[in-house]
Amino acid sequence: MKLLFEISRDGHGCDLLPPLDVPEVALPEKERRTSPPALPQLSETELDRHYTRLAKRTFGVNSGFYPLGSCTMKYNPRISEEMAALPGFTDIHPLQPAHTVQGCMAVFAETGKALCGITGMDAVTFQPAAGAHGELAGVLLIKAYHASRGDAKRTKILIPDAAHGTNPASAAMAGFTVVNIPSNACGCVDVEKLRAAAGDDTAGLMLTNPNTLGLFDENILEITEIVHKAGGLNYYDGANLNAVMGIVRPGDMGFDIVHLNIHKTFSTPHGGGGPGSGPVGCKAFLRDFLPVFQVVETDDGYRFTNPPATVGSLKAFYGHFLVIVRALTYIRTLGAEGIRDAAVQAVLNANYMRGKLSEYFDLACDRPCMHEFVLTLHKIREATGVTALDVAKALLENGIHPPTMYFPLIVHEALMIEPTETESKDTMDEAIAVFKKIRDLIRTDPEQLRRMPLTTPVRRPDEVGAARNPRLKFTEK
Ligand SMILES: *Cc1c(COP(=O)(O)O)cnc(C)c1O
Repeated sequence: MKLLFEISRDGHGCDLLPPLDVPEVALPEKERRTSPPALPQLSETELDRHYTRLAKRTFGVNSGFYPLGSCTMKYNPRISEEMAALPGFTDIHPLQPAHTVQGCMAVFAETGKALCGITGMDAVTFQPAAGAHGELAGVLLIKAYHASRGDAKRTKILIPDAAHGTNPASAAMAGFTVVNIPSNACGCVDVEKLRAAAGDDTAGLMLTNPNTLGLFDENILEITEIVHKAGGLNYYDGANLNAVMGIVRPGDMGFDIVHLNIHKTFSTPHGGGGPGSGPVGCKAFLRDFLPVFQVVETDDGYRFTNPPATVGSLKAFYGHFLVIVRALTYIRTLGAEGIRDAAVQAVLNANYMRGKLSEYFDLACDRPCMHEFVLTLHKIREATGVTALDVAKALLENGIHPPTMYFPLIVHEALMIEPTETESKDTMDEAIAVFKKIRDLIRTDPEQLRRMPLTTPVRRPDEVGAARNPRLKFTEK
C-alpha cells in the first residue's frame, strides 16, 4: 500500500480553514519558517480513500473476535463516544480558570468517588496516562511514604515472577531493587518464599491479581499480611479489574494502592497506542503524597489543589480527560449491578471457552479461571513441531485476532485467551469451532498450517528484523 507521501501531487489539497474569529497577529520573524513544511498534498477523495483502505487492512474489536489476553479487547459502547464528543468536554483548554469548567471538574470528582467505591480506596489521581504509568505513580507513593518516615533502608520491591512485565519495570524506574518471588505452577505466590524474602528492607509488594494465568491468588489475605507485618506496603495491579469489579475490592484485601486501566475495564478503545488512562487509588494515609492536581469540592465549587507532600507532576496537567468521561459514562450506564454483572459475565465466558478448548489443547493450569486462561502448546510442539505462532497465524486466517502469545513467560508455547464480557455464546462457539479445525489440521496437515495466513494483508513478516531494524521513516526512492 502506498504512503500519503507517495500519493501526494503538487497542487492537490483540501485545506479549508474557518474564518478567523480573533484579531490577526503577525508571528515574530524568528518564529517563522524559512521554507514550507514537507507535507503531502492530497485531495479530500484521495485522503478519505487512503484511510478507508488502511482501516480495512487492520483488525479491531469492531471487526471480529479479539481474545487478546490481559488486554481486555471488549466492545466499547457508543454512548461513551457520544459523551466524550460533547462540545462542553472537547472545546476546553487546560489553562482555563476553574470556575469556567466546573462541569468537567465534577467529572473528575464523580469518577474518583466511583472508583474509590469500586476499589475500596480513599483517594485517587487521574494524572497517569496508562497502566504502566500508574504503576510508576504507585511505587513513587511507596517511596515517598517510607522517606517521610525516615525509613531509608526499604529499597526492595517484591514481585512474583508471574507478574505483568510492567511491574518490575516500574519498580526499577522508581529506583527500587526488584526481588523476584517464585510462583507455583498456577502462577500463585509461593507464600513461604514470600515470607522468607520479606524483611526490614522491603518497601512493598506488587501483585498482579488475577495473575497472568488468569487465577485469583487464593492466599491473597495471607500475602498482604506478610508484607504489612514486615513494614511494607501492598500494591495491587488492577489492570484486569473486569474480573473482580463489584465482587471484591483490593482495599478490603489488604492493599494500600491500586492502579486501574480504565481504557481496558471502563471502555475506551485501545490497542492503537492510546490515549489510555491509569488512575491510581490509595488509602487515606497516602493521600498527601498523590501527584498534583487533586480535585476538591468546596463551598464555592470545585478547585484544584496540590497535596502537601506531593510526589509532583507525572504529566502535563490533569490526565487524559476524555478517557475519564468515557469511564464515568460506562459506570453510570451500568450502575453497581451492571458493573458486577460485567465481571460475572467476563468470568463465565472465560470458563466456558476454557472448558471447551481443554478438549483440544492442554491448559497451563487446570483450575477454574477468572477473566482469562492460558493454553500451552508445549507437548504439541514436541510431537509435531507446530508452535503457538502457527496456531495464531491460522486463527488470523479464520478472521480471529490471535490471543496473547508466549506470555506469561513461565508457560511454554503459551496462548493466553480473554474472551471478555461482551462476546456472545454464538461468537465463542464459532471461535471454538475454529480452534477445533486447527487442532484437526495439526494432526492431518501441519504443513498447511505453517503456510498460513494466506489472505491477510501481511502474512509472516520477519518479526525479529521488524523489531531490530524497524523502517519507520519515509525515504524517497
Ligand atoms: C495492560 C496491563 C498493564 C499495562 O497497562 P498499559 O496501559 O498498557 O501501560 C499492566 N498490568 C497488567 C496486568 C495489564 O494487563
